[in-house]
Amino acid sequence: MSDTKVYLLDGGSLVLDGFHVFWNKGPGGEVRFPVYSILIEHAEGRFLIDTGYDYDHVMKVLPFEKPMQTKEQTIPGALGLLGLEPKDIDVVFNSHFHFDHCGGNKYFPDAKKMCHKLEVPQAAKPQPFEILGYSDLSFSAEVAEARGATDQLLAGTTAKNSTFEGVEGDVELAKGVKLLFTPGHSIGHYSLMVEFANRRPILFTIDVAYTQKSLETLCQASFHIDPVAGVESMQKIKKLAQDHDAELIYSHDMENFKTYKTGTQYYG
Ligand SMILES: [Zn+2]
Repeated sequence: MSDTKVYLLDGGSLVLDGFHVFWNKGPGGEVRFPVYSILIEHAEGRFLIDTGYDYDHVMKVLPFEKPMQTKEQTIPGALGLLGLEPKDIDVVFNSHFHFDHCGGNKYFPDAKKMCHKLEVPQAAKPQPFEILGYSDLSFSAEVAEARGATDQLLAGTTAKNSTFEGVEGDVELAKGVKLLFTPGHSIGHYSLMVEFANRRPILFTIDVAYTQKSLETLCQASFHIDPVAGVESMQKIKKLAQDHDAELIYSHDMENFKTYKTGTQYYG
């Protein structure tokens, strides 16, 4: 744990209406927000939390989200900036399977894959209002098959190399790398806290709170399966941040993202 380093892998940006970012509150109008993945260099291995979105998928299925992504903002491109390749990653853990968190999974056939145990079945059989969220199915041969979308699979993606180990509740992925069960936004959503030897812990809200304002006002995004659980999860995150004096990092907050360390800079 003494030399744990955390990198934010910039994955480009997307656009949503303000009424989606701040559910039933707004204000409306276009909000451009960042998407990124989290790389944890740890004594026990290299862990990647989420894999961003796939530009071609968004252009095909949700072009109204106006993706902006350079080659260096694809997951292989962002790893390349650090001198790494997808095969250098030991474990891919998905916070949930919305398209902006699993679009690059297909590049990691060799990594161990993990998620909450309810996320794979939910992606395979989503509620009608979740279909666009769970629209990039290239992360799992099993899910793509269940949804009749095997055309999304990259050649080489098999049932065997896209199988997930399911977990539940709060889980310590490696020493000081803590997954916090925060359902609501999705059925098996996880937030993340990383502890370091020489600095405050960092608590990544992931999509429990897209922005700082979301958490401060307990206003979640309009995408969720259980908004009451979503509020409780926000309260859990707030309390944990306070109890551990953790620095909060938000998932889709452009103003704050500009101050975050990205590229070859890291936290540790
Ligand atoms: Zn998201």
